[in-house]
Amino acid sequence: MRQMIIGNWKMHGLRGDGKELAQEIAAAIGPALTRRDVVLAPPFTLTHCLAPLLHEHGIGLGAQDCHAEAEGAYTGDISAAMLADLGVSHVILGHSERREHHHETNARIRRKAERAREFGLCPVVCVGESARQKEDGHAEPWLTEQITQSLPADFDGIVAYEPIWAIGTGKAATQEDIESRMVFLHGVLADHLETDDKPTRVLYGGSVKPEDAASILAVPGVGGVLVGGASLSARSFLGIVQAGL
Ligand code: PEP
Repeated sequence: MRQMIIGNWKMHGLRGDGKELAQEIAAAIGPALTRRDVVLAPPFTLTHCLAPLLHEHGIGLGAQDCHAEAEGAYTGDISAAMLADLGVSHVILGHSERREHHHETNARIRRKAERAREFGLCPVVCVGESARQKEDGHAEPWLTEQITQSLPADFDGIVAYEPIWAIGTGKAATQEDIESRMVFLHGVLADHLETDDKPTRVLYGGSVKPEDAASILAVPGVGGVLVGGASLSARSFLGIVQAGL
């Protein structure tokens, strides 16, 4: 299975610097795209302006959220249809920052994932345990609950395993930790999903840097990486995209 590298720009970038960053990445990415899929998920405000450039270079256009309803009186929200209309291919759902700051529940994330599919978008559903849950030995039941409640049984998308304690901390999970989580998550997915003919791609996310990307991408079961901070520099993002190739 081809690995996927997703850059999540979060709430960073104005038109000038966002375009410059995307151009720098697009100009140098060429050969890596024969081996890996790459998606950039800029903030909504840059979606329209980056779409032609990313499409032209074979880079997927991602979004960082969508609403669970198709349309309606939801001031400030963005629907899956609107994203599809702009050429978005992937949408990140249930990121721990949205679960925390926007009180997103598993049930709502599941509705979003279903809505995204309805409009032809590939949902990238994030799951991950907190440091406390890890220390208390509660990570596995928590991850099982997140997977079984956030993903419909006919889920056709991507899962991103992002331990909360590794996000933005500079401390990625160890290869051993990632490997055992991958075995566990693939097992939960196989039990939960009806669609077991096609294995689900599971990404790792949490402080991935160019220096450790090759070893993380070599861990069995890792279908790619979701990159936050390091995707805001062309040099480090390209280092991750090309790691180990
Ligand atoms: C993220 O927020 O999805 C993420 C992985 O962030 P970082 O790479 O900065 O830890």
